[in-house]
Amino acid sequence: MIHFGPAGASASFYAQGHKSSLEMPGWLEKMGLNAFEYQCSRGVNISDEMAIKLGRSAADKSIQLSVHAPYYINLSTQDPEMRLKTRGHLLKSLKAARLMGAKTVVFHPGAGKGENRRELFLSAKAFLKEILDEAREEGLAGVYLAPETGGKKNQLGSLGEVLELCELGSELAPAVDFGHLHAISGGGFTGKPAFAAVLDLVEQSLGREYLQNLHIHFSPVEFTGAGEKKHWTTLETRFGPDFTPLAELIIEKGLTPTVICESAGRQAEDAMIYRDIYLGIMGRGK
Ligand SMILES: [Zn+2]
Repeated sequence: MIHFGPAGASASFYAQGHKSSLEMPGWLEKMGLNAFEYQCSRGVNISDEMAIKLGRSAADKSIQLSVHAPYYINLSTQDPEMRLKTRGHLLKSLKAARLMGAKTVVFHPGAGKGENRRELFLSAKAFLKEILDEAREEGLAGVYLAPETGGKKNQLGSLGEVLELCELGSELAPAVDFGHLHAISGGGFTGKPAFAAVLDLVEQSLGREYLQNLHIHFSPVEFTGAGEKKHWTTLETRFGPDFTPLAELIIEKGLTPTVICESAGRQAEDAMIYRDIYLGIMGRGK
């Protein structure tokens, strides 16, 4: 089944008086959404008890969970303290995901600035392998670790780099952020061929199963020459990418991805818009 949902809470969630993430699954169910990406952007601060409760509440409302790991992760750092923290952030995110019954932990691979980018990447890959080995000892319990395609040129996380990281093991799966890919390509995602090329590359590199259940981030993104500048919403129609070409491909290929919307403040509302674009094309096809 295809899943649509927000990354974190929309402004309207709080405006309607909700405070706790435990209320989120019920709120999403009412909106006809079925996925939620729990944000640990500023650190994994959720208690074990809360994670278990959130997992129960989500299971009860048939909401598929994922976790976004802290932004502080930097796999390419050589600084011993930063490496320790990076390892901690990833393993703690994984533990929270296990307790919640989340399917995926999304993370940003780290810094990739300068001429020695390939060296930084290889060092990041070796460090991720170490962390993966440690995670395997604790047991991943079916949770995928998902490096995300980055939106900024000085960050690791080109599509090629993400797919190469995924070669480390079957527990790795790509998180493809089309807003970021659009930004980093200077606005290249305007038609079906650009989207199709990404999907084809995922399938060629990792196989059909990883394409079938791909973890996707989607939101309108403003960019500069350096890449991503700001996430906007579907109300600001001057910012791409448009979801329609991707929705058409999802339907043509019979894919069942998870589409997480990261629009600024309207992530649940825009997830509904993307869902409706998808359902609209489905309806026309019949
Ligand atoms: Zn992200």
